[in-house]
Order: sequence, then structure tokens, then C-alpha cells
Amino acid sequence: MSKDYELSTLGVRAGQVRSQFQEHAEALYLTSSFVFDSAAQAAARFAGEEGMVYTRYTNPTVAMFQERLAALEGAESCVATSSGMAAILATALVHLKGGDHVVCSNAVFGATIQLFNSILGRFGIQTTYVSPTRTDEWSRAVRPNTRLFFLETPSNPMTEVSDIAALAAIAKKAGALLAVDNVFCTPVLQRPLELGADFAIHSATKYIDGQGRVMGGAIAGAKSLVGDPMTAFLRTAGPALSPFNAWVLLKGLETLELRMKAQSASALELARWLESHRAVARVHYPGLESHPQHALAKRQQRASGAVLSFEAKGGRAAAWRVIDATKLMSITANLGDVKTTIVHPASTTHGRISPEARAAAGITDGLIRVAVGLEALADLKADLERGLS
Ligand SMILES: *Cc1c(COP(=O)(O)O)cnc(C)c1O
Repeated sequence: MSKDYELSTLGVRAGQVRSQFQEHAEALYLTSSFVFDSAAQAAARFAGEEGMVYTRYTNPTVAMFQERLAALEGAESCVATSSGMAAILATALVHLKGGDHVVCSNAVFGATIQLFNSILGRFGIQTTYVSPTRTDEWSRAVRPNTRLFFLETPSNPMTEVSDIAALAAIAKKAGALLAVDNVFCTPVLQRPLELGADFAIHSATKYIDGQGRVMGGAIAGAKSLVGDPMTAFLRTAGPALSPFNAWVLLKGLETLELRMKAQSASALELARWLESHRAVARVHYPGLESHPQHALAKRQQRASGAVLSFEAKGGRAAAWRVIDATKLMSITANLGDVKTTIVHPASTTHGRISPEARAAAGITDGLIRVAVGLEALADLKADLERGLS
């Protein structure tokens, strides 16, 4: 499908392949394997001829999802995985080897840090953590064996924004590949590949599904870095996306732009309201003029996303009071849902890091993270106002 179509059109149409039955909606191919016309065709497929073989690495529903997400990211190829963590693991295992070095933002998803430290570390891959916003720290962290830069922007829960183009230039000079975890923005709000990144990585579990149903992940990028080597990796190592999940995620992509725009607009309104609230000390949201990387976010993203955090005056007791007074928002660490979620990072998602590291990251005891969904804004405000007042 022509890449000249607008994003909303690609989200609805790209990648669809119809069977001989001419179904209108994408078909769900729940099958683990595929049959061949002849022994010769089977041999050709096993030798690498284009066509379906086995769902661990070829399935029409999964292929449609991959094609559609590739179109949205403006990528030559996309490979889907069983979860977001599997996508990060696949990227690391395909492109790193023992003795390599990674430079990683210190504000990435907790499991990502665990993966680099406790798992990849055991195989002789070393990781240095740096500030997501200080590009000079990335330059200084580079070693002769640095092979990968990894970041997430905006960060969770502080919504710090990394300069993708600037870090892509530093990575290129260092001979390293740049991976951007694009979960918070999705291709609707940010297209890392256009800014020079080599990989746009997704936990499709979040906004791509959008309704909290299934797990999934994906990596988008050049065929030589993603399509070819990562399909080969899936074939051998196995963290494949289930066709059922791919089908749910395909449907999620059809409404992704609408949801991201609506949820971002609500988040901006909620952030402005919180910023003017007397019981709130600070609000972290890239769409606010008070955000340190507001100008960069405006340049790099089409909207500011649906995640914000704020500091309730009165520390942990006040934060917990606000959370416990909600009747609508779901108290859960998940995000990317049409249902608004609320969480206290210092005692949950970031509870296992040292108090000093937490303080350095700005994650105070009064901090609350809200991932804004599609409920009416007035109802969300009322839900927070109960505890704040
Ligand atoms: C959830 C999440 C992941 C991990 O994805 P799973 O699908 O849960 O494995 C990675 N990065 C970010 C930013 C996430 O929010």
C-alpha cells in the first residue's frame, strides 16, 4: 500500500491481505502450521522461498499486523513478538554479543533495566546508565565496544523528553545503533526512525491494543536490521506473537490515532487543571510550558501523550489519600488503556530502587502518575478533586 497515504488511512487499511473468500475484516488465521501442494513446494519453503510454513515465524494475521505497524512507523520492516520485553530481548540478542557495551537512559521501564543488568550482564554485556536529557553524558559514556544506545521518551513517570535526533547523531558517530522504546507516543505522536533511530520498539500491550486485552510487542526498522535477522531469530528462539493477539492488535491500530489524539487532549487539560490546583506542588507533562523540554517535545512529537505525573502537597500520606479517594480511576501500574489508571510510583513501580536513586530521579513520595483514558474529563477531575480537597 502506498506510503503516501495519511497515517489515519494507513492505520485502517495498510497490510491487509484478503483470502479467496474476500472477507472485509482481517481474517484470524488460528493455525500452527500450513500445508504444501507438494514435496517440492515444502522443500522450497524450508529453503527460504516466500510463503507460510509455521506460525512461530510465518502467519498471515501476524504478517498483516507487522505490515500495518511498519507503515505507521514509516519502516521498511516490522517483526512482532510475544510481548514488549520479548521485543527488547530480541533486539539485544540479534545485535549484541558478549563483550559489547550498551548506553541506556536511566529512566527506562524497570524490566528493561533488569534485562540489561541481571540477564544480559551474565553473558558479558555491560550497560552504562545516563540521563535521558543530558546528551553530553551519552557522548562521554561511549566506549570502543559500544554497540547500542537505548532510550524511552517521554520517560515514566517524570515525562522527561530525550532528543532523538541529537542522540542518533552521537550513536552514529560511535558506530552504535539507536533503539527507541516508542510505547508512550506510538507512531501516531512520534516516529523515531524519521529522526535517525534504527529501531522503534513497542509494547503493543499498551496503546496499540489500547483496551488492556492482550500482550504483544514489535520492532520496526530496516529490513537488514529487523525484518531479516529478527525473523530468523523468532524462527530459532521462539518468542512469537500469537495470531489471536495479532488480530486484536490489528483492530487496535485502526483506532490508534483517534485514541492517542483524544487521550492526549484530555491529559493536557487535566495537567493544566492540576497545575493550577492549590493542593498540587508540581505537574510533569511535556505539553505544559513549565516542562523543561517543552520546546523539544513540541518539535519531536505531534502531541504530548496521555501520561502525566504530579506531586501532591503533603508527601506519601497525601498521595495515598488522593489515590484512595478515586472511585473511577483504576489503581494499577498498567497504562495505555482507554480506562484511566492511577499509581503511586515510589511504593510500586519504583519501590525497589534505593531512596537516593528515587530522589535523584525526582520520584518523590508525593508523586502520583495518571495515564489518562477516554472517560469524560469532568468525571476525571471530580475523581481527583475528592482526594485533593
Ligand atoms: C510495558 C512496557 C514495556 C514492556 O512491555 P510488555 O508488553 O509488558 O512486555 C516496555 N517498555 C515500556 C515503556 C512499557 O510501558
